[in-house]
Amino acid sequence: MPEGPEIRLAADEVASILRGRKTTAVFFGQDHLVKFESRLNGQKVIDVQSRGKAILTVFDNDWVIYSHNQLYGKWLTVERGEIPDTNRQLRLAIHNRFGSALLYSASDIAVLHRDKLQAHSFLSKLGPDLLSEPPSIIELTDRLADKRFRNKRLAGLLLDQSFVAGLGNYLRAEILLFSGLHPLTKPAQCTRQELRRLASKIISLTLRSYQTKGVINPPSLVRLLKSRGCKTKESHRFSVYGREGSKCYHCSATVRRIDAGGRHIYFCPGCQPVKKE
Ligand SMILES: [Zn+2]
Repeated sequence: MPEGPEIRLAADEVASILRGRKTTAVFFGQDHLVKFESRLNGQKVIDVQSRGKAILTVFDNDWVIYSHNQLYGKWLTVERGEIPDTNRQLRLAIHNRFGSALLYSASDIAVLHRDKLQAHSFLSKLGPDLLSEPPSIIELTDRLADKRFRNKRLAGLLLDQSFVAGLGNYLRAEILLFSGLHPLTKPAQCTRQELRRLASKIISLTLRSYQTKGVINPPSLVRLLKSRGCKTKESHRFSVYGREGSKCYHCSATVRRIDAGGRHIYFCPGCQPVKKE
């Protein structure tokens, strides 16, 4: 499933085709949305934003298309006149004189007036977005210590989009590794300094993933791994995610995987010791 940085990169790609340009045609693949086509035809797109795992396409007449990629949704962009080679079901197409932005497979799409955005069932529950409105380290440290969140295990808390929006499974694993915290730790068990370090890693590693298109390891480690033959992105991007049974790069312990809530949690028992209750 794409996480915040991948959604933000998709939004950037859609923006490169649509932003600042008037639409020539808008098509919805779901019957209940067809009535909005005439409202959006000929209108200018003024921005394409990401909110956690959702994308907002904002028009200059104050209407907004909300779309959530869910598990299978995929945005594709093409130049004018091109048609992507795909068997996926087209759910939304926005055309202009230069090209088209096309959303396939996703069905969670809505057209909302800007004034009603905050009342939307998904958007209203989102915590601060780590890429479009990142909190400061102090704000996020305070949020970790807040009574709403401090007694939740970090493994669950980091995936809770009402805590912060944009984290998924790989970011969770890597953030906890670089924070030195075991996934089953609760913020209430941590010192202020540990929470501050965690807040800092939540912000910086999400931004790094956006900037590097998903490479979380620091540049110095990536260089070292490449020199040892790990040339592909998949072989050097993570420290623990997907690496169970392999040696930790940071302490040589064996990376482990536990399963909880249907998701795999990867961690290093050497770098991330269990805290006593
Ligand atoms: Zn380690």
